[in-house]
Amino acid sequence: MKEAIQFTALGEISHSGKTTQSAGEDRFKVLKDSIRDYEEIKDTIKTGIEDEEKILWQKKLIMKKLNATNTEWNDYKWQLRNRFTQVEDLAEIIQLTPEEREAIAVVGKTYRYAISPYYMSLIDPDNPDCPIRRQAVPCSAELDDRGELDPMDEGGWTPEELITRRYPDRLIIKVTNLCGMFCRFCQRRRLIGEHDTHAPKNRLIKAINYVKENKEIRDVLITGGDAFMLDDQTIDWLLSELRKIDHVEIIRFGTRTPVTLPQRITRDLVKILKKYHPIYVNTHFNSPREITRDSKKACEMLADAGIPLGNQMVLLNGVNNDKYVVRKLNQNLLRIRVKPYYIFHPKTVKGTSHFWVRIEEGLEIMESLRGRTSGMAIPTYIVNGPKGLGKTPLLPNYLSYIGKDKAVLRNWQGKTFEIENIV
Ligand code: SF4
Repeated sequence: MKEAIQFTALGEISHSGKTTQSAGEDRFKVLKDSIRDYEEIKDTIKTGIEDEEKILWQKKLIMKKLNATNTEWNDYKWQLRNRFTQVEDLAEIIQLTPEEREAIAVVGKTYRYAISPYYMSLIDPDNPDCPIRRQAVPCSAELDDRGELDPMDEGGWTPEELITRRYPDRLIIKVTNLCGMFCRFCQRRRLIGEHDTHAPKNRLIKAINYVKENKEIRDVLITGGDAFMLDDQTIDWLLSELRKIDHVEIIRFGTRTPVTLPQRITRDLVKILKKYHPIYVNTHFNSPREITRDSKKACEMLADAGIPLGNQMVLLNGVNNDKYVVRKLNQNLLRIRVKPYYIFHPKTVKGTSHFWVRIEEGLEIMESLRGRTSGMAIPTYIVNGPKGLGKTPLLPNYLSYIGKDKAVLRNWQGKTFEIENIV
């Protein structure tokens, strides 16, 4: 067995073996300077709250088109019934070139689209590259044939129809194919199909029985589609059944409703969830523009009910593959009580190649966060191994050497230092 492992050298090691910081350095000026670039740019990256005036203007336009009252707008069922599914309707709210109209019509035949009026109101009409538009509106790039419909081989990890199980002590139950908005990069776009369908009760019962029979399952994640698309009564029933199983310790929901349909987070829903603690909710903000007064209220209602909230961002070309955008997003998520949990490297799902990024971009973002913002604002960067090989974390390399009695590391500023590696 080798005595020492030598990693890629990352810089000079000081001769003293200590840190390379010089005594005369004005350390506070150095600290300020290290985030000067972000301080200069951050106000140009607007959250939805910071760009509220424009969003409210769009909301007014959409309400007029749909002849909607405020009560209707705030009703999630109305939002679902009135999702934008026709190119003519889209064209009344956002500018579309004839080529774009044609592409939407063609792509829509293969990959369904449906955008809640609320999420439509977030699209910046003055920005053809708006990150909201890119996530919601189909484009011709979706016809690129690269990738696979199920690169994670979820089908191969399905012991029971609604269940995906890749890990020893936890599993997911997919309860619906319905979502507030069908994201253009969705890893489960193959399941969206042509119609909205919830899993029938008899299949849910089979899934619950599987959990019952497998005593090592201590963590159940309810997802879809979007788990909160189930009605209150079904959520209540499902949670009560899962809570009857002694070995189920925690129950998690995967939902994008705080982002695409915040009206779904109602007092009644929160009241139901509260009965079955410990409940966790993982949501999915990808852009600072998605942080609006409505999404903030939705997250705060959940947090006030004692539900810890995590964010699973997907790294997407043209949406958030930018170190400043991610920093702004994560800092503002903490302000609405959502902990950045994961950054997922995009999966090679067919029809999503225009969202793909290189791993170097993800690593650069991780490098730019460490030290320059709160550790709470730094999620784990994950590459999902193909065919179900599982979540694999990636970090820039901070360890350059580890030996029998010492290790050499570098800090967030690139300064190298040694520590003793002894007990
Ligand atoms: S909300 Fe989630 S499941 Fe639904 S389309 Fe978006 S990414 Fe896919």
